Amino acid sequence: MKTYKIACIPGDGIGQEVVPAGQTVLAALAAAGSGFKFDFENFGWGGDWFRAHGEMMPAAGLDALRDKDAILFGSAGDPHIPDHITLWGLRLKICQGFDQYANVRPTRILPGIDAPLKRCQPADLDWVIVRENSEGEYSGVGGRVHQGQPIEAATDLSMMTRAGVERIMRYAFRLAQSRPRKLLTVVTKSNAQRHAMVMWDEIALQISKEFPDVQWDKELVDAATARMVNRPASLDTLVATNLHADILSDLAAALAGSLGIAPTANIDPERRYPSMFEPIHGSAFDIMGKGLANPVGTFWSCVMLLEHLGELDAARLLMQVIEQVTADPALHTRDLGGSASTQQVTQAVCERIAAAPAGRH
Ligand code: NAD
Ligand code: MN
Repeated sequence: MKTYKIACIPGDGIGQEVVPAGQTVLAALAAAGSGFKFDFENFGWGGDWFRAHGEMMPAAGLDALRDKDAILFGSAGDPHIPDHITLWGLRLKICQGFDQYANVRPTRILPGIDAPLKRCQPADLDWVIVRENSEGEYSGVGGRVHQGQPIEAATDLSMMTRAGVERIMRYAFRLAQSRPRKLLTVVTKSNAQRHAMVMWDEIALQISKEFPDVQWDKELVDAATARMVNRPASLDTLVATNLHADILSDLAAALAGSLGIAPTANIDPERRYPSMFEPIHGSAFDIMGKGLANPVGTFWSCVMLLEHLGELDAARLLMQVIEQVTADPALHTRDLGGSASTQQVTQAVCERIAAAPAGRH
C-alpha cells in the first residue's frame, strides 16, 4: 500500500487546533479503505520554538522536510513576537526555500453558507486566484538607514524577474485552460507602477499566445475589488502579484462567507520540493485555545493536498463530505453564525467519511 510522508507544522494560535483536525480527517480517509496510508511527522516550530531557541525553525529545518510528499501548515504569528519575524522565519522560509512559486486559492460559496453578496447566486462565485509566491513585493529586498534618527529612510523593493513572471503566467493560463470556462483575468497596476507592472502586462500578452483557447482580460487591482463584489460571475481564474493576490484572496474568502473556510496550496509545479497546504487565515489570537476555530479551511486544504498527490477519488470524497457538513447549520462554527466546536465539525466529517459507501472512493 502506498504510504505518503506528510510533515505537519501547526505553528501558532489556532494553527495548533486546525492542523491536528486536518490530520484526523486525513487519517479517517486512509482508514476508510482509500488504498493509501499516511506517515505523519510533527514539527513544533513557531512562537514557542522561538522563545526556546531564538528562531522560528532550525537553520537546517528545510532538510527535515525535503523528502516529504507534502506539508500541512497551520499559521505563523504570535501575539508577543513581531509579525515580520514570525512570517519570514517560518512560512516564507519554507515557501521561498522550496521555490513554491504558485500559490493557488480557490473560492466558492459552499452549501449552507450565508455569504454577504445578496445579489449573486452561489454559482456566480467560483474563482481560483493564482498568487505569485516567490518575489514581487515580498522579495525581501530593501533596508533601513539612519534607524531612529529624524533622517531615517526605509525601502521595500518589489522585485520582478522575467523568469518569475513567465512561469506564474504560464501556470495561470494552464490552470484557466483546465477549467470549464477557460477564462483568465490578469490583475495589474501598470497605470501607476510603470516599470515592473508594465513588464508583467507584456509577459501576460506573450504567454497568452501559447494558449489560444483561453479567453483573457486585464483588470487594474483596485477595479478588480469592485468587480469581485459587483460582477462575480464575470471572473473565473485570476492571476496577480504576491501582494495584490494576498489582499484579493482575503476579500474573496470574506465574500464566500468566512476567512475560516478558505484553503490554499503553495505549489512547486516542477515537483523538485514538497508543496505546502494551509488555510489562508492566520493565528486568530482573538479565538485561540477556545475550540472556536473553523477547521473547514484546513480540510479544504487537505483536498488540495490529496489532489496534488494524485489521490483524486479521496479528494472528491472529502470535498463532498465538507459540503454535506457546511450544509448543516448545526455544524457551523461561530464565524458562520453557529455554535459548533472545532472538534464537533471534525468528528462530523470523520463520521461521514467512515459511512461513505465502499467503492464510492
Ligand atoms: P487572522 O486570519 O488570524 O484573523 C482575522 C479574523 O478572522 C479574526 O477575527 C479571526 O478570529 C477570524 N478567523 C480567522 N480564521 C478563522 C477560523 N479558522 N475560524 C474562525 N474565525 C477565524 O488574521 P490577523 O488577525 O490579521 O493575523 C493574526 C496573526 O496571524 C498575525 O500574527 C499574522 O501575521 C498571522 N498570519 C499568518 C498567516 C500565515 O501564516 N499564513 C496568514 C495570515 C496572518
Ligand atoms: Mn494573507
